Amino acid sequence: MKNNKADMKDGAENAAPKSLNFIEAIVEEDISTNKNDGRVHTRFPPEPNGYLHIGHAKSICLNFGLAESYQGLTNLRFDDTNPTREEEEYVNSIMEDIRWLGFDWENRLFYASDYFDQLYEWALMLIKKGKAYIDDQAAEFISEQKGTLTRPGQESPFRNRSVEENLDLFTRMKNGEFPDGARVLRAKIDMASPNMHLRDPIIYRIMHTSHDRTGDKWCIYPMYDYAHGQSDYLEGITHSICTLEFEIHRPLYDWFLDQIVEPGAYRPRQYEFARLNLSYTVMSKRKLLELVNEQIVDGWDDPRMPTISGLRRRGYTPESIRNFAERVGVARRDNVIDVALLEYSIRQDLNKKANRVMGVLKPLKLTISNYPEGQEVELEATNNPEDESQGKRKIPFSRELYIERDDFMEDPPKKFFRLAPGKEVRLKYAYIIQCEEVIKDAAGNIIELKCTYDPETRSGTARSGKKVKGTLHWVSASHALDAEVRLYDRLFVNEEPDIVEEGQDFKSNLNPNSLELLNAKVEPSLKTARPGDQFQFERLGYFCIDPKYTSAEKLVINRTVSLRDSWAKISQS
Ligand code: ATP
Ligand code: MG
Repeated sequence: MKNNKADMKDGAENAAPKSLNFIEAIVEEDISTNKNDGRVHTRFPPEPNGYLHIGHAKSICLNFGLAESYQGLTNLRFDDTNPTREEEEYVNSIMEDIRWLGFDWENRLFYASDYFDQLYEWALMLIKKGKAYIDDQAAEFISEQKGTLTRPGQESPFRNRSVEENLDLFTRMKNGEFPDGARVLRAKIDMASPNMHLRDPIIYRIMHTSHDRTGDKWCIYPMYDYAHGQSDYLEGITHSICTLEFEIHRPLYDWFLDQIVEPGAYRPRQYEFARLNLSYTVMSKRKLLELVNEQIVDGWDDPRMPTISGLRRRGYTPESIRNFAERVGVARRDNVIDVALLEYSIRQDLNKKANRVMGVLKPLKLTISNYPEGQEVELEATNNPEDESQGKRKIPFSRELYIERDDFMEDPPKKFFRLAPGKEVRLKYAYIIQCEEVIKDAAGNIIELKCTYDPETRSGTARSGKKVKGTLHWVSASHALDAEVRLYDRLFVNEEPDIVEEGQDFKSNLNPNSLELLNAKVEPSLKTARPGDQFQFERLGYFCIDPKYTSAEKLVINRTVSLRDSWAKISQS
């Protein structure tokens, strides 16, 4: 098979052809038969009623990615057919998130509302052709008459109105003569169709509501199903990609196009793929909005949210999300992707990019009794063992340090290779120390360790050869900066939080311990770090400077992900 995509992507002559997903295969077939003159034109059509989430990111990567691979174009189109729900805040956040992912719609920003005039004209045309009628019944009544999968629907008593009466009523609907809900315009298709969507669907409804973009020009608004396919047609979209739940709507979209497009002429063709579901994650905007409104999370960009803005604040990079979307692939059957794959993608990316620093999340004081008081030395540390070009930095060492509380046990089990009474460990980039004494407060809590060091064992010197089993991270007490570190766990305790017992809702699956705040001590080089900067705390994970709450007075650090890679383990076993 011809494989344009692999050629274009890799550029290298010997690159192995990448296997195509089913949509790429369709696109290549269409290009080879010169369908639509070989054009590839996709669109991403969000409804501006919430922030974008990782599922949307997958759709964005697919649509913009296809255009990138096949020298096509991608439009951004806001589906703003519903005037009550849209908000400027959402429109702006959606644009910011798409740009941040690294995609560009150039000058092709559209709104479904751009087409309200044309959609209205087409509705008049349908009426004139006897293919649409005004129904005076209430919407609830109409849906009751729709029947079921096994029982045909009932025809409305208004179905056979004359064209003149329908035109008159529709014009008066448009002119604002009737209150909300008094009448609707329905397509006249087939009340006995096995496809429920073809049973005379509603295509216009009365809503005396101002619209963000069209103001008070309209008091009738088209239904999403009526606007969607025609919007694609008006924009010259070739491949209308959407998620599987719209497969059953496709005959209706095609029916609308049949009414306005000559047979054989250009028309958009819809292809459906499986939506992305992630374990331990809810993805519906309605549910995410509920978490925001009930202040269960700290806004749409809470680092525990699956939103693009939440992932960004958490420390995810655009590359990691794009790689994740590529790894997930494009399926035609619904499935749930292990959230560990997303975490794997960010680890892969940050392992190369993030410099290493030392930070102590739960500090325990450690005094080196034989180290001269007031003495300081600067030790050399490697910024990134994966990338020598990142060079080295100096870290201060002194008599009083902090180590991780969890790195000491008074009465350790056999395989504990960290610090314990009488035991030796190496302090990373520094010396080997031995624990001599454990100091406790009146309540018996360990508050300090007294150790001795061996000056001959300094890292990087000729005589540092002595081996010990454990190496610990540390910071110098008087030099360390205070930081609030935020550790995140999954927001939900169940793999599929949408599945709940009767009488419960998805919030009953919330993880009460999804956020842990710690007063940490971090190395002084972080003084110059900027909001959003990313780094690895040695042995602890990848972290970033929280852009929302970090100020001149306070350093707030988010943990993006720990170093424990459950995905690599799963995929190897
Ligand atoms: P939700 O169901 O989460 O509220 P939606 O489908 O209502 O999302 P839209 O704004 O209508 O959100 O979606 C814009 C585009 O993103 C659509 O083409 C839709 O198919 C796609 N999309 C939405 N959710 C996912 C998902 N989980 N995986 C892949 N694509 C998705
Ligand atoms: Mg939707």
